[in-house]
Amino acid sequence: MKKKAYCNNLLKYSRLQTRRVKTGDISIGGNEPIRVQSMTTTKTLDTEETVEQSIRMINAGCELVRITAPSIKDAENLKKIKRILLEKGYNTPLVADIHFTPNAAEVATNYVEKVRINPGNYADKKKFEQKEYTSQSYQEELHRIKEKVSPLISKCKEKGVALRIGSNHGSLSDRIMSRYGDTPLGMVESALEFVRICEEVNFREIVLSMKASNPIVMVQAYRLLVNKMQGEGMSYPLHLGVTEAGDGEDGRIKSSVGIGALLEDGIGDTIRVSLTEEPEAEIPVANILAKRYKQRKNNEVCEKTTNPINPFEYNKREVVSLKNIGEIPVVVASLLSTKPIKPKDLTPFGYNYKKEIDKWEISDEACDYIFIGEQTIDFELPGTLGVIQKSGTWNHPKNQHFPLFSAQSYLSSTSWSEQLNFIRITKEEFSLKLIEAVKNDKTAVFIIEENLEDGIKNQREIFYKALESSLKTPIIIQRDYSGLSEEEAMLFASTDFGVFLVDGLGDGLFLNSNQKPSFNIKTMFGVLQATRTRISKTEYISCPSCGRTLFDLQEVTTKIRAKTNHLKGLKIGIMGCIVNGPGEMADADYGYVGTGIGKITLYKKKEVMKRSVPEKEAVDELINLIKEHGDWVETA
Ligand code: SF4
Repeated sequence: MKKKAYCNNLLKYSRLQTRRVKTGDISIGGNEPIRVQSMTTTKTLDTEETVEQSIRMINAGCELVRITAPSIKDAENLKKIKRILLEKGYNTPLVADIHFTPNAAEVATNYVEKVRINPGNYADKKKFEQKEYTSQSYQEELHRIKEKVSPLISKCKEKGVALRIGSNHGSLSDRIMSRYGDTPLGMVESALEFVRICEEVNFREIVLSMKASNPIVMVQAYRLLVNKMQGEGMSYPLHLGVTEAGDGEDGRIKSSVGIGALLEDGIGDTIRVSLTEEPEAEIPVANILAKRYKQRKNNEVCEKTTNPINPFEYNKREVVSLKNIGEIPVVVASLLSTKPIKPKDLTPFGYNYKKEIDKWEISDEACDYIFIGEQTIDFELPGTLGVIQKSGTWNHPKNQHFPLFSAQSYLSSTSWSEQLNFIRITKEEFSLKLIEAVKNDKTAVFIIEENLEDGIKNQREIFYKALESSLKTPIIIQRDYSGLSEEEAMLFASTDFGVFLVDGLGDGLFLNSNQKPSFNIKTMFGVLQATRTRISKTEYISCPSCGRTLFDLQEVTTKIRAKTNHLKGLKIGIMGCIVNGPGEMADADYGYVGTGIGKITLYKKKEVMKRSVPEKEAVDELINLIKEHGDWVETA
């Protein structure tokens, strides 16, 4: 097995073959379609509400319904929920979600088709202790875990119930944290420790997941899991998801970056898009992502490519810096107008000309370059904006105007810009001759254009060739989604750009679609924010809510967002419960966590700052906390 192998084929779509695991009337993995699932947000003891919500989810296309079982009483109530659903003609498999309560898991096996456990908290209570383990004391710990989980495995075997062992980046046990740290390897080992225990007793009806709120960590963890599984002769199906992705566009983009990047490489047998919205709203998003691969030709396994990057660790490709290109990715948008371009035409691109004061107001999400084809611009431009023109039109070099060549026209031209020359190429045009020509050109920037749905592989080939030839020329990724709906364009762009950005590839994005320019620009900034390659807004790490949630997450998220969305770069965690919240939002700068009915605890990083604040005052108290720590800025 290759050291860096994690998928069948880097340059052709090929679905990773996994073991088929039965969950009631459907199966996950093998040649089964990618299954779509979600989780209820109601209280499990509220039978009527849970049944109604489950039915809404199923009618939307949900193929597995997960329900939290925080206590034995909740687990027992799954019996009633299952019975009513069956009476109403719904035999969709149910999954019991367990944290901390092994006895509830064992009870749940009597009523559901699958149980999900978190290896970070199934056998351990979190004390945030760093311990030194000898190999003997570590073995003793594994023995203790085995004792704890064995009764559940026996019940699963007896009842024909599948088991999902789902690591979460934010809730690894102290033991795993002490040995591996808060890393993708820690997430993988956390799950594999449990898998090995299952295999010892020949239980293999297992599905695995490696979720994180940071899509880069999530992608690396799944890749590493596949690599390790292959090393140990395992092939368990994978459940994909980005946790605490948030709501609206941000949540959709973040989820598509993580889930899409893996599906694109053939990894993933079932997906859940976690949004802080009604669970049925997750299903159409998940379906769009999954459907894209249903029609994709499954190529034979023929991995001949050597991966020039380390897929388990983030490293940005080394490039030369040219003006503002090369450090953080730039955003390029098209302004193709048949009429002369006026200052007001730049408004949707983030540049608002204020005639009264003769100044440009520039938004945080203003594009860096506009492509105007064969048009020209005759007014004075905002200082941060560059204009890209077709090389044939660029015949009188003006400041801030740069030519766009084809490969052919670049090689045959006699007139170039002294600052920046864009060369638009396809995979076929990326010849050795062109590579040699640009090697010594410190003004060249490639725009790699791709319109095919599975064009990632072509663009990946260009990046790999550039890396192998030690070419330091910046590369901007261009994609066109004309003809797609707004939602499809957003989800596919997030996948197609995200897959490169998570690997440190790509010095700019250039998105075309038949949507408004503001949509294209917002989507590009959203993908850059999700991959943390360029921060332009506040980030909300909000849980999707579940039966443990202690306040109205959607309402509170909207309230907090309205008051803090100008705090660019700040990460705010909004979590429904104290059981999982603090761990899951480990990445946030400030946290708002439900601790009891009407009670909120506020965090600064991982530290509790204000305990049991009445919910009515909690949003204001959060803002005070941000102010006290100097992270507040007044709106203009
Ligand atoms: S953090 Fe949110 S989704 Fe997770 S268990 Fe708590 S309430 Fe449920």
